[in-house]
Amino acid sequence: MTYIIIETCIDVKDAGCVDVCPVDCIYEGDKMYYINPDECIDCAACEPVCPVEAIFAEDAVPEASKEYIAINKDFDYPS
Ligand code: SF4
Ligand code: SF4
Repeated sequence: MTYIIIETCIDVKDAGCVDVCPVDCIYEGDKMYYINPDECIDCAACEPVCPVEAIFAEDAVPEASKEYIAINKDFDYPS
């Protein structure tokens, strides 16, 4: 599984989650940050530090934000 960032991050982007991720799998985009599902180790460290509750375990993403599962997956991550 992976963690997912949803639209609540848009324009907040304080990067608090980036500082605590032990595997550096959270990447900055133009509008928000994204979690690379191929790198996330599902540790949950990022979830409580987000000031706007934008981070969820994949199976706990709110129904209205489910599109963000694909949006995180499809972000153009650096290789
Ligand atoms: S769950 Fe852990 S590994 Fe995954 S993005 Fe959050 S801090 Fe990084
Ligand atoms: S902590 Fe939350 S608001 Fe801040 S960059 Fe991460 S997901 Fe976005």
